[in-house]
Amino acid sequence: MKVTAPYEEVCRYLGYKKGAQPEPEVETLIRTCTARVEQAAEPRTVSTLLPLTFLEGNIMKLGPIQVKSAALHRNLLGCQEVILFAATLGLEVDRLIARAGAGRVSEGAVYQAAGAALIEEVCDRANDALRQESEAEGWYLRPRFSPGYGDFPITCQPEIARLLRTPERIGLTVTDSMLLLPIKSVTAVIGRSREALPCHRLGCEACGKLDCAFRRD
Ligand code: SF4
Repeated sequence: MKVTAPYEEVCRYLGYKKGAQPEPEVETLIRTCTARVEQAAEPRTVSTLLPLTFLEGNIMKLGPIQVKSAALHRNLLGCQEVILFAATLGLEVDRLIARAGAGRVSEGAVYQAAGAALIEEVCDRANDALRQESEAEGWYLRPRFSPGYGDFPITCQPEIARLLRTPERIGLTVTDSMLLLPIKSVTAVIGRSREALPCHRLGCEACGKLDCAFRRD
């Protein structure tokens, strides 16, 4: 999958406000480092469909995974199924960031920002494809919801990785301290509902439906 990191998003991750333009030499650094990250990246994604069951309170079962989370519960209300999803940029991006190390701080910061923008773009593209497939079958997708958002526990990550067989399929593992390796990786849950919502492809933060009952925190 060949994907590029949007320049404006890399700038946003670097702390530039919308519309703010970096100095020309900084722009050159951003574009050069972003190109290196894109070249190093080997984006891979994996997903699987599971039944969703609501138990008492804010407890749900995503297939065999039991989760307690008020935020995820609100986001998934009205859904009957979930897609478990994972994506990674691969280890070469981690190596690029590590090699920049302490000696080249600004380069390292741009690699980090470019990696963050690129993994989000990979997820958005993969989720677009899942959305199209689902809509062809009369299902509608909620925005992806990752462990760590709101009160969705990051301790669910090992089970998500195990169910998706991410180590074998995309080279993604979860450490004992719940870090994803490679670092520029994502795990997420995506609700599937028969009810169409005007969901924004970039998620609730970019969505204008401010009164939505399913808005994620
Ligand atoms: S706020 Fe927008 S993107 Fe989020 S669930 Fe509601 S309609 Fe979908």
